[in-house]
Amino acid sequence: NCLNMAVTEASCDLTYCKMRGFASVLTAFIKERKMGLNDFIQRLCSPSLPISNSLSRLLYHSLLSPIKPSDFDYLKIIGKGSFGKVLLARHKETTNYYAVKVLQKKIIMKKKEQRHIMAERSVLMKNIKHPFLVGLHYSFQTTDKLYFVLDYVNGGELFYHLQRERIFLEPRARFYAAEIASALGYLHALHIVYRDLKPENILLDSSGHIVLTDFGLCKEGLEDNSTTSTFCGTPEYLAPEVLQKQAYDRTVDWWCLGSVLYEMLYGLPPFYSRNTAEMYHNILHKAPVLKPNVSNSGRELLEGLLQKDRTKRLGSKDDFLELQHHSFFSPINWDDLMARKITPPFIPSVSGPTDLRHFDTEFTHLPVSGSLLNSDSLAVTNSVREAAGAFPGFSYGPPVDHLM
Ligand code: AMP
Repeated sequence: NCLNMAVTEASCDLTYCKMRGFASVLTAFIKERKMGLNDFIQRLCSPSLPISNSLSRLLYHSLLSPIKPSDFDYLKIIGKGSFGKVLLARHKETTNYYAVKVLQKKIIMKKKEQRHIMAERSVLMKNIKHPFLVGLHYSFQTTDKLYFVLDYVNGGELFYHLQRERIFLEPRARFYAAEIASALGYLHALHIVYRDLKPENILLDSSGHIVLTDFGLCKEGLEDNSTTSTFCGTPEYLAPEVLQKQAYDRTVDWWCLGSVLYEMLYGLPPFYSRNTAEMYHNILHKAPVLKPNVSNSGRELLEGLLQKDRTKRLGSKDDFLELQHHSFFSPINWDDLMARKITPPFIPSVSGPTDLRHFDTEFTHLPVSGSLLNSDSLAVTNSVREAAGAFPGFSYGPPVDHLM
């Protein structure tokens, strides 16, 4: 009996070993086939192939992209930009909350903004990590939409709080301006010009620190002295050189920072007029009105940043360093600031990640459209086919454990 048992166990072991061997051979085989398929699809989707291969691109994304719209529950619309909307979404598997920015390809293409959006993607993919810049977790596309899965920032827009309080006292304005400046300085070091700093893009996180969002209009690849001249931006904060469609460079961001700081300290943007033409005239020709209720160093900083001649503007020589050394910022310990060690002067009252109290109810009460999920389908209509192929290689996702 004993012998029998030993034999039986031995034969079992043998079978088990054999099976394991077979399984590993099979796994290797499948892996190889899968890699071959990847290779095949990648070649099909190579950018050198004409756009008419959009279907194969789609196939590529639906087969290989690890993340898709239906992986999320869409809970609320939290904002609207010119190309699409921003939604609060919950990842079904992990229950983590994200802000998902959904852009319509057709609208982008109509506005000839494709280059900017591609810039947004590559800007976000440059492994940009900074305590005051929104983090991107994934980006992916369907036939008609581009998706960006971003950190969900729920302390509200900075200007939502400013509107409630009319102005901020200097220490508070200094704290926000310093955090914004450090984010801009970081981008400049990567040869990126933010360009579109505007109230809606400056958010507070739940602890009261600044988070800059919307890299859509960032300009990439600007070396120290190179310039560009695409017209973009928000009326209030437009720098004179942008308004005049002249060449501009990273100093445009210091103008915008000056505008933000001015609005925080005085309650209105500099050069403001209800009449847009008059406001443009003021931006180009009038000196900013700097009333004495702001300290000398504050007014001096504003004068330096709102200098119409960008070659004389504060920051035109040593960029962020020049700002760091300005007397207005002397109470700031920049190492502490970068380490998020400075206690924010105001902590937004939010109860948790789904607390939307700081978002405009104009958006949060809108129904979330089911079309977000429908676009998963492979049914490509003629109207979207062109758009579908226009953003090759867009999908992006870090290893899955990032999401966990
Ligand atoms: P944008 O198209 O990036 O300007 O976004 C439009 C609006 O959506 C912004 O003004 C914010 O109110 C909101 N928003 C954008 N990104 C986020 C985010 N990561 N977290 C929370 N809200 C956001």
